[in-house]
Amino acid sequence: MTDNDCLFCRIIAGEVPADFVHQDDLVVAIRDVSPKAPTHLLLMPREHVVSAAELTDAHRPMLGRLFAVAADLARNADIAERGFRLVTNAGPDAGQSVPHLHFHLLGGRSMGWPPG
Ligand code: AMP
Repeated sequence: MTDNDCLFCRIIAGEVPADFVHQDDLVVAIRDVSPKAPTHLLLMPREHVVSAAELTDAHRPMLGRLFAVAADLARNADIAERGFRLVTNAGPDAGQSVPHLHFHLLGGRSMGWPPG
């Protein structure tokens, strides 16, 4: 299912340009347009899922693929050894700004904890 009003659905459909770093039948990854670290990628399902709050057991294949792709991309970006962060914001308190599930893959600098 896609949502015509969803920015990431429109990117996945090729209606809005983006810098793709991975595409398969379940998952795509793009470069974040406003990077917060030297490596900042966004991994997302092709299917329109609003946030992690909507996930169910039926999403296992997509999530398994997404995490495997994230590890591949981290290795390719040479951040796997030093470390990286894979994070998803769900809902207003977390600061989610695009309501299509996505995971930020951030690396290339040290990061603080806890997040703000
Ligand atoms: P979040 O605030 O967790 O929902 O993350 C949304 C992310 O999408 C932000 O890091 C934005 O910089 C990024 N973003 C917004 N528009 C685009 C776009 N057209 N292409 C790539 N990344 C985008």
